[in-house]
Amino acid sequence: MLVDTKYGMFIDGEWVHAGNRAVIDVVNPATLEKIAEVPLGSADDAKMAIQSAKEAFEPWADLTARERSGYLYRAYELMLQQKEKLAELLTLEQGKPLKEALAEIEFAASFLLWYAEEGNRVYGETIPSSKKNKRLWAIPQPIGVVAAITPWNFPSAMVTRKIAPALAAGCTVVLKPAEQTPLSAIEIMKIFEEVGLPRGVVNLITGNPAEIGEVLLNSKDVKSITFTGSTEVGKLLMKGSASNLKKVSLELGGHAPLLVLEDADLDLAAEQALASKFRNCGQTCICTNRIFVHENIKEVFLEKLVNKVRNLKMGEGLNVKTDIGPLINESALKKVTDHVNDAHRKGAEILIGGKEWDGPGGYYFEPTVLSNVTRDMKIMNEETFGPVVPVYSFEKLDDAISVANDTDYGLAAFVFTNDFNKAIYVSEKLQYGIVGINDVFPGTAEAPFGGIKESGFGKEGGHQGIKEFLEWKYISAAVK
Ligand code: NAD
Repeated sequence: MLVDTKYGMFIDGEWVHAGNRAVIDVVNPATLEKIAEVPLGSADDAKMAIQSAKEAFEPWADLTARERSGYLYRAYELMLQQKEKLAELLTLEQGKPLKEALAEIEFAASFLLWYAEEGNRVYGETIPSSKKNKRLWAIPQPIGVVAAITPWNFPSAMVTRKIAPALAAGCTVVLKPAEQTPLSAIEIMKIFEEVGLPRGVVNLITGNPAEIGEVLLNSKDVKSITFTGSTEVGKLLMKGSASNLKKVSLELGGHAPLLVLEDADLDLAAEQALASKFRNCGQTCICTNRIFVHENIKEVFLEKLVNKVRNLKMGEGLNVKTDIGPLINESALKKVTDHVNDAHRKGAEILIGGKEWDGPGGYYFEPTVLSNVTRDMKIMNEETFGPVVPVYSFEKLDDAISVANDTDYGLAAFVFTNDFNKAIYVSEKLQYGIVGINDVFPGTAEAPFGGIKESGFGKEGGHQGIKEFLEWKYISAAVK
């Protein structure tokens, strides 16, 4: 087995391995080989983790920001020192090409560094009083125990993007990673253990999502839920949090449009559309899901895009030549196939790809470009989360913006143009939490990432990210 079985859940500073209990198999999606197993944690395990985080909270919150920052900074250094090993493990459990896994580890580490710094800048406010004998101020304080629930598509970065600001703010954490990818989360716990983080400050639970989720939701000791995943589960968690009024922060699904205007640099647009659509096999929340291209440049753009797609090498992520890996599981493959078949039936033309690829055992789908798409097709309305892109042409810019906005999602959108005024106009009209202008990689530790509409609320990254874990206390003092 790939991973030492002594590791598993991390509760109250101790490793809880599977022992005699039931396990969750971890499977390499590139080959469908079992690579590890982790314990199927129970409701009681989750309760113990919450109790441990509760006991650890006050002493952790009482440390100075500088002391907390020291732990995060050391974790950042350790993560970078091990980046090759961590990237390989990430590829094995998640499937993405090694070069992307390496970039993810660096991205994950960047949140540890950013919040090591940002934790030292959590300022309060003094308020000029309307009365002479009053002094007023407001101080930010850590909210308490945080439950973090993360998805499989970025098994490392989604964990640090939540844990780093929570710890920097003075909160303690119970993490529940996706059942498909617990190994990267275990590695992050090992790093925190190695830097000597006090017992209970971070805990890791693996298990049945609904069962663990219910414990987290019902516990009055958990003050906040920070979640990244599907809109469907996000809504469940928000409903569940209402019973004891937990704070909720939700990073949910997306359906990103990419607009190519008539004056755009078409080589750049095709290259970036390729990167945005096919990285992580299309399984990224901000992946382009629809391309809108001006009628007059459609043919040239499509030719450039299809030529680039033709050169993509599909296969196991560990092979350094691989550009595009497998989908995570069978249901992902079914959804992608369904979107392509539905579009084809309704008149879309398949310019390249369009079918499964017979890879080394995993769930592979060829990178696919569709043209002549219409708005009634599923692919124009739902998050595909796979390597397929529909190309829709437009004549009037306002029509393209209007179709791009006609979705319940509102995470990220992209526009390609060399006209500064048009870039500003489009970026302001698009109803999305993030807009990239000639840029499909807006995610970075120093900027606020997050959606609007049914893509959720709350920000991760930037000085905004730490505020999700703070609450404001107002203090009024009467003086003589
Ligand atoms: P998912 O919602 O199925 O699972 C996400 C997490 O929620 C996993 O840990 C899962 O075990 C857990 N979960 C599932 N049911 C639960 C329940 N009833 N109670 C508690 N936890 C539960 O999503 P996924 O398939 O793992 O991830 C893909 C989705 O995540 C896509 O929609 C993608 O767009 C979204 N995503 C969003 C962002 C963002 O920043 N907005 C980033 C990455 C992924």
